[in-house]
Amino acid sequence: MTELPDPAAIRERAAVLANIRDLVGDKGWIDSADGMAPHLKEERGNYTGTAAAVVKPGSVAEMAAVLRLCNGACLPVVPQGGNTSLVGASIPYERFSGIVLSTARLNRIRDLDPVNNTMTVDAGCILQTVQQAANDADRLFPLSLGAQGTCQIGGNISTNAGGVGVLRYGNMRDLVLGLEVVLPDGRIWDGLRGLRKDNTGYDLKQWFIGAEGTLGVIAGAVLKLFPKPRETVTALAAVPDPEASLRLLSTLQRETGGGVSGYEIMTRVSLRMALDHIAGNRDPFDRVHPCYQLIELTGQGADGSLRAGLEEVLERAMADGDVRDAVIAESEAQGRALWRLRESISEAQRFEGASVKHDVAVPVSRVADFIRVATAACEAAVPGIRVVAFGHVGDGNIHFNMNQPAEGWTHDGFMAEQPRFNRIVHDIVADMQGSISAEHGIGRIKKAELAHYRAPLELDLMRALKAQLDPKGIMNPGKIFG
Ligand code: ZN
Repeated sequence: MTELPDPAAIRERAAVLANIRDLVGDKGWIDSADGMAPHLKEERGNYTGTAAAVVKPGSVAEMAAVLRLCNGACLPVVPQGGNTSLVGASIPYERFSGIVLSTARLNRIRDLDPVNNTMTVDAGCILQTVQQAANDADRLFPLSLGAQGTCQIGGNISTNAGGVGVLRYGNMRDLVLGLEVVLPDGRIWDGLRGLRKDNTGYDLKQWFIGAEGTLGVIAGAVLKLFPKPRETVTALAAVPDPEASLRLLSTLQRETGGGVSGYEIMTRVSLRMALDHIAGNRDPFDRVHPCYQLIELTGQGADGSLRAGLEEVLERAMADGDVRDAVIAESEAQGRALWRLRESISEAQRFEGASVKHDVAVPVSRVADFIRVATAACEAAVPGIRVVAFGHVGDGNIHFNMNQPAEGWTHDGFMAEQPRFNRIVHDIVADMQGSISAEHGIGRIKKAELAHYRAPLELDLMRALKAQLDPKGIMNPGKIFG
């Protein structure tokens, strides 16, 4: 039996949309197909949705009024920042009758307190703008990731973004001191406190960090700033295996006073793809090696001691056999070129046919085991598969991707095997007490995996929080679970 739409409900929905339009005005309202298009699809093209309108409030008060109207009429809302999610978290479903609520117009840096080392920002500030503002004040805002020219702080917080600075400075969660959140019913929670110490009951901001817009909309945040490093040293070491990378990390941490700010591993296949497909990339070594370790150290000395320390550690590691060859960047440009090798792997994978991607974490001590065991399992499952493992080894976070074999498979045939690869890789992750989503979140793509791997009690607790804060279920429906 098909359910016919209720004419009264359709009229009510139209009336609410008209009210929202009046409220935000022309600047804050998009309902043309062309205007909405960039808000309704994901960059990789995996998801495309629909919406009645894209609404861009010009102030927090306006955003609150919009949510109050939506909640009153049970009109669903998909909050959206820079729309750089890769897991389908920030776009609506294919048959969606609600609105996309964009934070793009809330883009003011409200305050910078150099003594407190904090910056208070609107949720719609672009990450790169925040980094620049910190830099202008001789401070560092350390969150750093590929999408930083487009992604917004509110989205970074809603997904607890990771990136390449986590080893030294932590995830987004560790960089937030306070939040301002608009709740689904339109109430505004002002938790914009810039305190390093605050033990006054539950830490409410943590409910919203990583919640992927399912509990409310982040409107503003107080962010932590750090001293700007005076010296940066970047190096690439060729290592025999990931075990050697982990031993090198321990030594570097000990010998450089915790100066390791970036520590990214690349297997040979990963680097080979970056070299073959991305113009301007060059292999710094004459010989082929099984594995490569990108190292970045930062410090305050500016006297060359960091570099001298790194040289000493690398020399000893070469004598011990943990490093086979190494280059240290002589200039900023050379340092950037080394980073580019790592950063172009994802893009390079596109030139090698279909790829299935996993963003997983295990305890740092298990990373080498994980790469070895999971690679063997995937190669046994599909002979000729190309495992592309790289990433934030110092955080225990590996991007464990795989490209279709060079011959014998179609694109769609390989992609159809994704559930089988997920089970193989995620079972190994679960055995090692790891996580099936380290830094990209759950969104749509990993809902089934979350339900499979998280304990029922944990899922119950998450649902209890959702039911309490969003009893009508209007916030980003169908994401994470449900
Ligand atoms: Zn990453």
